[in-house]
Amino acid sequence: MLKEEEIEKLQKNIDTLKEQLRQTEAQLQLLKSGNEETNNRYNNQFNADEITRYSRQMLVPAIGVAGQNALKRSKVLIVGTGGLGCPAALYLAAAGVGELTIVDNDEVELTNLHRQILHSERDIGIPKVKSAYQKLSNINGNIRVNPLHMHMDGESLMDLLSNDNFNAVLDCTDNVATRYLLNDACVIKKIPLISGSALQLEGQLTVYNYKNGPCYRCLFPIPPSPDTVTSCGDGGVLGVVPGVIGVLQALETIKIITEISDVLSGRLLLFDASATTFRNIKLRHKNLNCEVCGSSPSVTKPIDYEQFCGAQSHDKVINIKILTNEECVDVIQFSKVHDESPIVIDVRPTVEYEMCHLTNSISIPYHDIVKDKHLDILKELLSIHSKKQVVYVVCRRGNDSQRAVAKLKDQFCDSHFTFLNIIGGLHSYAKLVDSTFPIY
Ligand SMILES: [Zn+2]
Repeated sequence: MLKEEEIEKLQKNIDTLKEQLRQTEAQLQLLKSGNEETNNRYNNQFNADEITRYSRQMLVPAIGVAGQNALKRSKVLIVGTGGLGCPAALYLAAAGVGELTIVDNDEVELTNLHRQILHSERDIGIPKVKSAYQKLSNINGNIRVNPLHMHMDGESLMDLLSNDNFNAVLDCTDNVATRYLLNDACVIKKIPLISGSALQLEGQLTVYNYKNGPCYRCLFPIPPSPDTVTSCGDGGVLGVVPGVIGVLQALETIKIITEISDVLSGRLLLFDASATTFRNIKLRHKNLNCEVCGSSPSVTKPIDYEQFCGAQSHDKVINIKILTNEECVDVIQFSKVHDESPIVIDVRPTVEYEMCHLTNSISIPYHDIVKDKHLDILKELLSIHSKKQVVYVVCRRGNDSQRAVAKLKDQFCDSHFTFLNIIGGLHSYAKLVDSTFPIY
């Protein structure tokens, strides 16, 4: 049997076994939860398992039996089961929040695993909510977890909030359009919103719309310009940072439900992981002219947030096309000439070039090209290779390489070189030419 066939056969076997394991675990969970008494003759609020399980938490004076009972009767919505949502959901499930609804439209990828701690290697390819549901059910069989594999839009969110009486909503997403959507819906439905974010080595946390405190729109009536917003996929994030913020989102949720004072409302917590410091910044008061929570609001139902923010409400990359077909080459065509050592310029940031790059490619980041930096390197290079005619330009997915080609064509218009964009970038190369090239 060919090696490739054997690999494929083993992979199929593993997939079948994974599915069998998932089903068996779900069955076991169902049987276990069916065996739990709802209460016992020694306590009419909790079964014996619950009293043992939550004993250390009930012993905390600020929680007590009343606080634990409030958690048991509570319903919490978590939007996003990524870097923030995983640790938040994990602690809320463990703490005994009676009903957790988790929403996410994505599937588990290898790039998620350094921070999205509910998912494991064997979950790659399955919906994140399915993976999270299994882990949360394994942690606590006494609670109910509702996994919703869907993209949250205004209509579906309002339906969800209308049908269920949520005590709190957690914003564990990483895009501005969803932030405004969740904010407006929570204001309209009078639900506190626990909002977290994390990027690189910094995290932020606050609670909006809590007891007459400000909402997100009070502080940011106008969305930021889309090109000033960086995602974890582009800027990177140390896994621990969303871990810290997600855990604190769970903490604020528990405080709201159990009515422990000093909820993080009207304040913004800034976590600096490089110095290991937490700072509290006092936020402006509620804005009486706020479009959604002010005295005469103009936003009384969700609007079109993608249009409002000029940005999409998910972090999928949209491919641009600014060059003609003659200015582009696909990865298959490129691979045919690759052995002849053509000139290849890799325009990704330096750190990405250091992570992995094509043999013989030269790093000149797009950010430098737009600032006309390091063009002398390119000029020198072209003078050495004066016999060659074509310069191939590559990036991660084929967007920046197009912008770079457009710019370089202008800069080198009087040279005899033709700049060609490699369509789909290194992602396409990994997919169609060499599967051993790392995808990130
Ligand atoms: Zn407001």
